[in-house]
Amino acid sequence: MKNICIVGGGIIGLFSAYYLSKKSCQITLIEQTDLSDGCSFGNAGMIVPSHIIPLAAPGMMAKGMKMLLDSQSPFYIKPRASTDLLKWGYHFYKASTEQHVRHAIPLLRDISLLSRQLYKTLAEEEAFQFGFQEKGLLMLYQTAQVEKEEAETAKIANEIGIPAHILSAKEVQDLETEIQVAVRGGVYFPKDAHLIPQVLVKELIGYLENKGVKILDKTSVTSFEKKNGQIQAVITSNGKVDKLDEVVLSTGAWSPLLTSQLGLTLPMQSGKGYSFTLKDRLTNVQIPSILTEAKVAVTPMGTDLRFAGTMEITDVDLSVNMQRVRGIVDAIPKFYPEIKVNLPEKETIWKGLRPCSPDGLPYIGRSKHLKNLIIATGHAMMGISLAPATGKLIEEIATNEQVSMDIEGFSPERFD
Ligand SMILES: Cc1cc2nc3c(=O)[nH]c(=O)nc-3n(C[C@H](O)[C@H](O)[C@H](O)COP(=O)(O)OP(=O)(O)OC[C@H]3O[C@@H](n4cnc5c(N)ncnc54)[C@H](O)[C@@H]3O)c2cc1C
Repeated sequence: MKNICIVGGGIIGLFSAYYLSKKSCQITLIEQTDLSDGCSFGNAGMIVPSHIIPLAAPGMMAKGMKMLLDSQSPFYIKPRASTDLLKWGYHFYKASTEQHVRHAIPLLRDISLLSRQLYKTLAEEEAFQFGFQEKGLLMLYQTAQVEKEEAETAKIANEIGIPAHILSAKEVQDLETEIQVAVRGGVYFPKDAHLIPQVLVKELIGYLENKGVKILDKTSVTSFEKKNGQIQAVITSNGKVDKLDEVVLSTGAWSPLLTSQLGLTLPMQSGKGYSFTLKDRLTNVQIPSILTEAKVAVTPMGTDLRFAGTMEITDVDLSVNMQRVRGIVDAIPKFYPEIKVNLPEKETIWKGLRPCSPDGLPYIGRSKHLKNLIIATGHAMMGISLAPATGKLIEEIATNEQVSMDIEGFSPERFD
């Protein structure tokens, strides 16, 4: 029986534990928080095979630079004298090419479709009732410029087997039956889905506890013991976890802090984002949407409605910038004139750190430098979407099975 230690109890660590718990493995999951909040809880809960274009793409540098001048813009880089940020920016710049986009598209499609299928299967299990809905996603726009960009993405999506329909304003309104929508048009991705992330996370934790997974919460991993090119023990704030066959590192935005302890380089920045949720609505948005000009995600969760957005490239910093939150609030009535939202109190804003690799692809795979280390992070804005597939791949890697898809492009050491 393999003895496996998973460090990090976000959605990626939990799904890794979920699939590993179905094999004969003894699992210890270590999490520094009390497992009641974090990036995997208050996000927009979208499952997005539609998101086939990686963040690093031609034109992104120029777009990003323009947005930096606007205090309410959805994209921001916190100025810092940081060599890690400089290196990340350099890799991002290098990856912002047509060639990289062509390389990334089939990889993102394959892992997204695998994940979506696994979600469908999971949603059929009795223990899991996490509001999984297959209603698609509307990319809504108001300007001719964005209409053109979205039409290009729709064309590529259709070519690679992800259905995408370009809709007029009237066709958007016909789909969105309960709430008035003010748009120039939209692209509808019928194969996208959504769920309630905080419910999913709780159900996964409950499931793992029942399966006998040892969960050490409120326990920080502080260092490692290495010998003969392997991790011998994980040192925590509450003692040592040793006799390990495999260590899975799924520590999200904190990952570089741990990989540097292991002598490895993992270019990563935190992409901070915010959300807030309107409760118990009498009428609600029916189809999740992205308000593309404002980069705001809108997700109905039962009778609640969640708005999420902004991408502040930062270090591990969870402070809330209300100017950015105002940017989200102001965008809502422009697209949904009937939904008027007051700026929420600062204390009620949920915040999370997306673990962002510079090329927009996750890090999934075994380390070449440390034989029993497996890395699973860097999912940026698609961690919920890609978590079941990542968990399944981690299970396959750890148990030396054939992997479900080609993962060479996700190599954690591709920037070495
Ligand atoms: C506003 C917003 C909206 C989003 N919307 C979507 C969406 O609609 N769809 C989608 O797919 N994704 C979305 N995302 C992205 C998604 O939330 C993340 O990609 C995902 O939650 C990352 O999961 P993770 O497990 O990698 O990291 P995390 O959830 O951050 O988990 C990592 C865990 O490791 C723990 N940890 C770190 N260091 C240590 C240590 N030393 N010892 C022990 N534990 C440690 C941390 O406490 C943390 O709990 C959104 C994100 C934001 C911010």
